[in-house]
Amino acid sequence: MERAKVNQGIDLSAYEDVWVLGEQREGKIQPVTIELMGEGRKLADQLQKKLAVVIPGYKIESEVEKLLHYGADIVYYMSHPLLSSFSTDGYTSAFVQLIQKKKPEIVLVGATSIGRDIGPRIAARLGTGLTADCTKLEIDAEDGKILQTRPAFGGNLMATIVCPKNRPQMSTVRPGVMEKAIHQETAAGTMETFIPDLSENDIRAKLVEIIKEEKKQVNLTDARIIVSGGRGLKSAEGFHLIQELADVLGAEVGSSRACVEAGWIDASHQVGQTGTTVRPDIYIACGISGAIQHLAGMNESKYIVAINKDPEAPIFGICDYGIVGDLNDVIPAMIAKLTQKEVSI
Ligand SMILES: Cc1cc2nc3c(=O)[nH]c(=O)nc-3n(C[C@H](O)[C@H](O)[C@H](O)COP(=O)(O)OP(=O)(O)OC[C@H]3O[C@@H](n4cnc5c(N)ncnc54)[C@H](O)[C@@H]3O)c2cc1C
Repeated sequence: MERAKVNQGIDLSAYEDVWVLGEQREGKIQPVTIELMGEGRKLADQLQKKLAVVIPGYKIESEVEKLLHYGADIVYYMSHPLLSSFSTDGYTSAFVQLIQKKKPEIVLVGATSIGRDIGPRIAARLGTGLTADCTKLEIDAEDGKILQTRPAFGGNLMATIVCPKNRPQMSTVRPGVMEKAIHQETAAGTMETFIPDLSENDIRAKLVEIIKEEKKQVNLTDARIIVSGGRGLKSAEGFHLIQELADVLGAEVGSSRACVEAGWIDASHQVGQTGTTVRPDIYIACGISGAIQHLAGMNESKYIVAINKDPEAPIFGICDYGIVGDLNDVIPAMIAKLTQKEVSI
């Protein structure tokens, strides 16, 4: 496939509206779609343009229609038997066809395994730019361009990137970073079906079988409460205590990268810049110092509780409730209190 030529002096005014490239798996809309719609709605309102969401799939009309309850002005349903499951070639080609036809000004993509695969391919075929892993999106009040902010140089500075000469302006956003669009009782907007031009020959990798991973899936992105452990746990066994507190609270278990690197816990639990970005109601950081790369993944949590024996630990600079103490005393005391046992420390 030939890469499109960039910067050809295109007519920027021919492009309008804010789009979200949505995701479905086994016919179910993925939560990242609703998060991107929440952010897309804000951007569209600022620009006084429409918000559209695009879903590829086949025979999932009733699921796709649900998106009309989340504030979309237009829901494009890309319907084709070859889009029922994800394929890099099929999705890329279908999205490119619809984008070329309708010319959106801004396109938001989830920084999921699917979005990271197809986002750059779509941008390359359209000859435009893409800013990956954005944590903040804003509209420049002066010229209406989107200001795309993301961590750079290992999280030591935040870079704001613009796409001045090409369209659409494309960003990927990590799941869990943006607030979800709110469900409305009444459906608004319209649904349009688009049938892309696709054939078996366009898709080089064939899906033979879907085999689900058997291990328990960690769902940090949707968790309301997360209890996270750091190097202060001293060993893999330290996570038993974390798990105990998590079980009492109905929480998921998170981790700093230090523990993942030490082999104490699986990487799927890692929170932070190179792990998962989370925004639970309560984040309890136990024996975590608060390195900038960890904070980048959890500082949008509603309430942050920190347990650390070092009163100077940076985590105390961002937490709502700080407990200076040894986690081996504090966590059992919390568990005892929560389960109404007598406690003395
Ligand atoms: C490019 C890059 C990307 C990275 N991405 C990530 C990321 O995604 N996520 C991430 O977490 N890190 C990431 N890191 C690593 C990050 O810089 C830190 O090294 C890491 O977060 C430190 O983990 P920690 O807080 O568990 O360990 P430490 O910094 O060693 O902190 C341990 C803390 O435990 C406290 N403590 C010790 N004993 C006890 C006790 N008994 N009771 C209570 N407190 C105790 C100590 O006072 C200390 O504050 C990244 C680094 C780089 C360079």
